[in-house]
Amino acid sequence: MDCLFCKIVAGAIPSHKVYEDENVYAFLDIYPCAEGHTIVLPKKHFGKFTDMSEEDAATLFASVNRIAKTVSETLGLEGMNIGINNGEIAGQTVPHVHVHIIPRRAGDGEGN
Ligand code: 5GP
Ligand code: ZN
Repeated sequence: MDCLFCKIVAGAIPSHKVYEDENVYAFLDIYPCAEGHTIVLPKKHFGKFTDMSEEDAATLFASVNRIAKTVSETLGLEGMNIGINNGEIAGQTVPHVHVHIIPRRAGDGEGN
């Protein structure tokens, strides 16, 4: 097992867990873009989102939907960015599919 995120799912590398079910594992990003920046992974290894079947992608996003609602309610958010960097050229740095949930707050884009 030579994948950073597979090691996180297995508990071989520690992480701050946000949510877990039979299909996905969610944890806080180590370099958060905002407080509460959460990463959601399928437990099964896929390199890129476009390597997944429609069924596996649907299962992943059912959990993303549930987790995003919980993050929103817990942190009292009005909105968030939910997205995937699909492939190295698109900014994917860890080659195990993952969805970013990035809380947005008033004024956090100023100066960028
Ligand atoms: P990507 O750029 O591939 O879409 O996102 C990878 C994300 O994983 C980055 O936001 C990065 O901060 C996060 N990350 C990389 N290594 C670790 C780690 O060991 N632990 C945690 N919690 N996050 C990580
Ligand atoms: Zn992996």
